Amino acid sequence: MGGGLVGLSAALFLEWHGVPAVLVEKRDTTSPQPKARRINLRTMELFRQVNAEADVMAAAAALADFEGMAAGRTLVEAEPLSWGHGEDDPAPEISPSDSCLCAQDTLEPVLRALATERGADLRFGHRVLEVVDDGTSVTSTVRDPDGRVGAIRARYLIAADGAHSPIRERLGIARSGRGTLGRSTNVYFEADLSAQVRGREFNLCQIEHPEVPSMLLTVDGVRRWLLMADPAPGRDHAGWARAVRTATGVPDLDVRILSALDWEPGMFVADRFSAGRIFLAGDAAHVMPPYLAAGANTGIQDVHNLAWKLARVVSGTAPRSLLDSYQVERHWLGWLTADQASAQTANLRQLGVESGDGTPSHDPVALLMGYQYPAGAFVPDGSLAPLDRLGLTGQPGSRLPHHRLGPDRSALDLVGRGLTLLGASDTWERAASATPGVEHRRVDDPAWAASVGITGTGALLVRPDHVIAWRCPTAPRDPADTLPDVVAAVLSGRG
Ligand SMILES: Cc1cc2nc3c(=O)[nH]c(=O)nc-3n(C[C@H](O)[C@H](O)[C@H](O)COP(=O)(O)OP(=O)(O)OC[C@H]3O[C@@H](n4cnc5c(N)ncnc54)[C@H](O)[C@@H]3O)c2cc1C
Repeated sequence: MGGGLVGLSAALFLEWHGVPAVLVEKRDTTSPQPKARRINLRTMELFRQVNAEADVMAAAAALADFEGMAAGRTLVEAEPLSWGHGEDDPAPEISPSDSCLCAQDTLEPVLRALATERGADLRFGHRVLEVVDDGTSVTSTVRDPDGRVGAIRARYLIAADGAHSPIRERLGIARSGRGTLGRSTNVYFEADLSAQVRGREFNLCQIEHPEVPSMLLTVDGVRRWLLMADPAPGRDHAGWARAVRTATGVPDLDVRILSALDWEPGMFVADRFSAGRIFLAGDAAHVMPPYLAAGANTGIQDVHNLAWKLARVVSGTAPRSLLDSYQVERHWLGWLTADQASAQTANLRQLGVESGDGTPSHDPVALLMGYQYPAGAFVPDGSLAPLDRLGLTGQPGSRLPHHRLGPDRSALDLVGRGLTLLGASDTWERAASATPGVEHRRVDDPAWAASVGITGTGALLVRPDHVIAWRCPTAPRDPADTLPDVVAAVLSGRG
């Protein structure tokens, strides 16, 4: 339910896992608002896995030079700032992918087209009216564009129905967090600013004019822009056009205001991410201020975490308790990310400075790629991944580190739809072929083995979402005896 970035990504991930799904979206089209623009490294790795990375990069090509930050009294007076998000730097040593800037109103149609091409059943213009979970299935009452009302019965429902999630409300799931943290107006406008921007392209430009303190955001780098300004009750489109001229420093700028929407940045995290057969994902589960550019990214990563678990449970190859690990893993991360985003300053000149409220600021790259779930569908071994720097060394519950295995080949590319056993010894290959749902991939690279804490006889078991499920530093006496028990422990979701 919901055809925003999170619902559309869920459709792609479920399709990749071969899970038949129906997506129901009440709007006739994808979102006309450009809101989310930063698609981070980790999300791009997920798109890479499902062969969507090239399409997203192509859609982002127009903004390839717009990575920087700037600040000044007006746009024409702004100077580039040297500081950027660590994750924005090309980081070939930590990922096979690159982050990109691709506005939501550009990206959603790309994901929609890919999912449709691949056979997903996407129903735009369909509104969910009612949902009933009877313990064996979920029945959604849906009104189609012609006003006809019908029912869709499914084994599970992902509610990616946005911050005001009607499903979350209906389930009576409360939210916690810091609450509302401010008020803002997003002024989406068209104006040709290419001459003013050429040679000093920016992603975000902080406008310090006393009459319009605001942030100018690039949408397509030429004609479409977003001004995030303080609300001005009663100001009409003509008034906002004048504000845009002041903020840009171009008094005769030809401006067309497309929309001016009030919104409130805040932190609201659902106390539970699931109830029975219904799972909350994306903004339905966690709302956070945009200062870490993490809202949509965290949501897309939610449904990537959920898709493989649903695939296993629906195919009858894992117990339902595997799905309980969604709450344990993603609630922890949703809260942590929303809290970190809330402690960030909106002032570009103070990025990276410790928050004034005592919240410890984690390293942004570690928060993005280097976290380790506290519990869930893996076998812990007592090793801990740090959050003050990226320190991925094969800890169970953390992401498999990127290791280059060829010109455009990463260790992450070895991970398939099942559980993937990575190791060099033949005994593991035999053990994997005797264990249903486990694929063996040979990695004959001592440097890789050392980097993830195993010897030449050891192995790593990796989940389809790249999370390490089990680390075995040296081979046990009989791997074929050990492996089925480990797989059962992982799929029980109770590590
Ligand atoms: C100014 C701004 C900048 C941002 N920048 C970034 C960024 O750079 N990076 C980032 O990751 N995030 C960013 N975000 C956050 C990001 O926009 C959101 O986190 C993200 O769009 C949430 O996606 P979603 O799919 O969960 O929800 P939505 O996009 O809200 O989608 C929910 C969908 O559910 C549908 N729906 C609701 N009820 C029903 C119903 N009854 N029947 C059928 N359909 C229904 C709605 O129509 C809607 O399409 C930003 C946000 C703002 C405001």
